[in-house]
Amino acid sequence: AAKAAAADRPRRYAADLDEQSDEQARVGAELRTALDTGQFRVVYQPIVALPSGRPVAVEALVRWAHPERGTVPPDHFIPAAERNGLIVELGEWILRTACAQAMEWQAAYGDLAPARMSVNVSARQLAEPGFAALVAAVLDETGLPAGRLTVEVTETAVFGGGQAVQSVQDLHDLGVHIALDDFGTGHSSLGLLQTVPVDVLKVDKSFVDSITMAGRHAVIATALIQVSAGLGLTAVAEGVETAEQAAELHRLGYELAQGYHFGRPSPEPSFLTPGPSPAAAVHVQSR
Ligand code: C2E
Ligand code: MG
Ligand code: MG
Ligand code: MG
Repeated sequence: AAKAAAADRPRRYAADLDEQSDEQARVGAELRTALDTGQFRVVYQPIVALPSGRPVAVEALVRWAHPERGTVPPDHFIPAAERNGLIVELGEWILRTACAQAMEWQAAYGDLAPARMSVNVSARQLAEPGFAALVAAVLDETGLPAGRLTVEVTETAVFGGGQAVQSVQDLHDLGVHIALDDFGTGHSSLGLLQTVPVDVLKVDKSFVDSITMAGRHAVIATALIQVSAGLGLTAVAEGVETAEQAAELHRLGYELAQGYHFGRPSPEPSFLTPGPSPAAAVHVQSR
């Protein structure tokens, strides 16, 4: 069985370095083709208010609709796109697609449309000189007001060098909101809050997962909401999968949440289409 498992293992784990760079070149070429032939898609996941479950924003998440392998999740190709630099072009396409989509929903659904669009930006994009100018140009082109765009960055990306810190500052000056993604998992998350202007803390799923159990993670989730409130920031709890987690987060003071409990990423979030909506509102127990 061990032998069969080894044979099934993807070739990218090969120990041989030449083979590895061959594999990198192959993936790089494949990503290039995918971009040129329109194989990427953007799906959107709601970010909701607690306790109502009312959507206030969506996060844009990229997918690769691979002709043979089906839907490939971003964790499987974003790192390769980062390494070969294609993320810059891919990221621009994602940004433009998401901003244009926000305007389309606005036109089609009016007040039902999500008020904000949140877009993930990688270290390589943020490090590029002129990244903020590119964002400004895309906003201009699509007509999306800067105040309706949130850019999600990780601490690693902000500290990744190049023009990253300046980019964040410039985006903030444009009126774009800055969200720190996967907050709490980096090395010096709290120090970062003194370095760059941040509007939103996205508290990582790892802290949400065990929140309904006693112990360290619940303590951290509680501390993070206090930091957030103390600094006048908005906290979003990521990866909320159960009603119990949602109720507990609300009890701790979280006002926004995101996760499968409220809606999975999809091309057109279900809250936009008429019909019975899933009963995701938090039922607060009266004590
Ligand atoms: P992220 O930005 O932290 O996005 C949240 C991830 O958690 C998404 O995975 C989402 O589908 C998943 N998720 C949401 N709710 C739940 C839940 O309740 N349970 C679980 N188990 N997962 C949940 P996804 O779409 O696979 O993306 C993974 C990561 O890839 C993202 O993490 C982000 O770092 C990166 N990524 C995705 N789209 C883009 C993009 O357009 N550009 C860049 N640069 N990175 C992207
Ligand atoms: Mg994100
Ligand atoms: Mg995240
Ligand atoms: Mg994440």
